[in-house]
Amino acid sequence: MKKDLSNAPELLVVKNLRKWFPIKKGLFSQTVGHVKAVDDVSFTIRKGETLGLVGESGCGKTTAGRTILRLLDATGGSVMFEGKDVLAMDKKELRKLRKDMQIIFQDPYSSLNPRLTVGQMLTEVLHVHEISEGEAAQKEAGDILETVGLRKQYYNRYPHEFSGGQRQRLGIARALAVKPKFIVCDEPVSALDVSIQSQVINLLQDLQKEFGLTYLFIAHDLSVVEHISDRVAVMYLGKVAEIADYKELYKNPAHPYTQALLSAVPVPDPKNKSKRIILTGDIPSPANVPGGCYFHPRCPKVMEHCKTVPPVLAEVAPLHEVSCLLYPTSVPEGSAVPPASQAA
Ligand code: SF4
Repeated sequence: MKKDLSNAPELLVVKNLRKWFPIKKGLFSQTVGHVKAVDDVSFTIRKGETLGLVGESGCGKTTAGRTILRLLDATGGSVMFEGKDVLAMDKKELRKLRKDMQIIFQDPYSSLNPRLTVGQMLTEVLHVHEISEGEAAQKEAGDILETVGLRKQYYNRYPHEFSGGQRQRLGIARALAVKPKFIVCDEPVSALDVSIQSQVINLLQDLQKEFGLTYLFIAHDLSVVEHISDRVAVMYLGKVAEIADYKELYKNPAHPYTQALLSAVPVPDPKNKSKRIILTGDIPSPANVPGGCYFHPRCPKVMEHCKTVPPVLAEVAPLHEVSCLLYPTSVPEGSAVPPASQAA
């Protein structure tokens, strides 16, 4: 059963976040354009909530997660964490923030130091963040291992001695060691077998309950985030196409892109023969985004004005926002869009 978060305070507020990478050319490395990896992204996450962030490879979801944590410098917008402006923090403030905001990476092996034993890795984290030292740190490291479902006896093992699923548990242990409030889970199960994926997702859910954690859960597959998310945001080419409560999004997807992604999710009921929507064409380059709606070159419901009028993300139902000109709320003020073309 999902949680009731209606009275929970807002922990993270992201507004108009942009991360553009300059394209440099020529002898003097002049900037000739930008790769718009994240372009005007806004959302809020409440304390104890999990927001799933989904989209195809290259849609900007990982860049968004890293920019929120200040692992990448933002080009514009704002990120407020517990009311504090993350993008304006100096080094000292950021160091403190690292304790509250953590990340779990997709590839657990490359994110673990192969020369450190598990115990050394965890005690180092506890030492750097001034949480505990010496024997107290060793005891705490052993306890953290048990919390993530690993034996204390693994303390002296090296990362290469663990399986893929166990390594991801180590990645979770390292993030958990500093007692964070918020974790960006960056495709934490994408590299794992399906059977192990559900174990890791269940572990993350148990830890959320036990420690009151808040997650931004990034994945390229809607079926993965369904189980863990309270709300889901769908990204396309650096922008949020749709954001809604997970049940609402899965039952009533409003954006043609979400509808296509959902049609690709396998359904266990053999009587349910819903038709798969195949998107034609490749995702355009974020260095050369199409005019109007970014999705128009691939959209099965494209209209003439989609090529020139950029839709805005707006509510189509309570707590359900979509960015598509089929809905009158998404039509920017002053744009001439024929009303007959709209769906609602
Ligand atoms: Fe498709 Fe037009 Fe809606 Fe974009 S605005 S998703 S092109 S219908």
